[in-house]
Amino acid sequence: MARMPGLDVATTTVDKLLTWGASNSLWIFPMATSCCGIEFMAAAASRVDLDRMGTIVRGTPRQSDIMVVAGTITVKMAPRVKKLWDQMPEPKWCIAMGSCAISGDFYRDIYSVVPGIDTFLPVDVYVPGCPPNPEELMHGLLRLQQKIMDFRAGKPREAAERPPTPEHMRRPSLPRLDDPSRPEELSRLQTASAGSLGHGTQMNLAALRRSKDGEALAAKLAELKQPPVVETKKE
Ligand code: SF4
Repeated sequence: MARMPGLDVATTTVDKLLTWGASNSLWIFPMATSCCGIEFMAAAASRVDLDRMGTIVRGTPRQSDIMVVAGTITVKMAPRVKKLWDQMPEPKWCIAMGSCAISGDFYRDIYSVVPGIDTFLPVDVYVPGCPPNPEELMHGLLRLQQKIMDFRAGKPREAAERPPTPEHMRRPSLPRLDDPSRPEELSRLQTASAGSLGHGTQMNLAALRRSKDGEALAAKLAELKQPPVVETKKE
């Protein structure tokens, strides 16, 4: 934007004005599922005040520009998250907030957890941390603003670079429920051992471990567990 010397007016182009508007009215659809969601709420509160970037948190995907996925996403939730993403109008952007959204983190070994949302969504900005604090989310939004400005200036929209994840953390050590390599025997043993838990207040994990079903399941899990890949540096 240029000021006219001696005059109280400024000139600009319509395109610059639209870019300024697009990068400063980032309406967020919060896909907050767990602890990272609390940090997201803190970012939206008065201290960090996301509103000063024209950011409004919306409860509907149809009026949102950005999906912020904050927290662990399970295999069962993933199709719903994708459906909500598909309902957002173009151009739309995605932020993966926190290690769980980026790679599954602690829970990547659990059969039901997605090892990173970039397995089914195009992520534009990764905000690492467990959890990332509100300032880091703000920094992620500033990076996204720059990306939006570049996009409107005609630069190709490229996938963001995922923070490095060790090779052995890219897939769980036990096959997930929908994994074709998952042995049927494992599903049968898990169902049988769940039946041994009993109901309501009778649930007793120690008794389960001692039971025949519990021991068979433990043996199967031990058999399937793959040793982690340890990267060795070449001299
Ligand atoms: S990254 Fe950490 S803080 Fe965020 S949802 Fe996962 S466990 Fe919770």
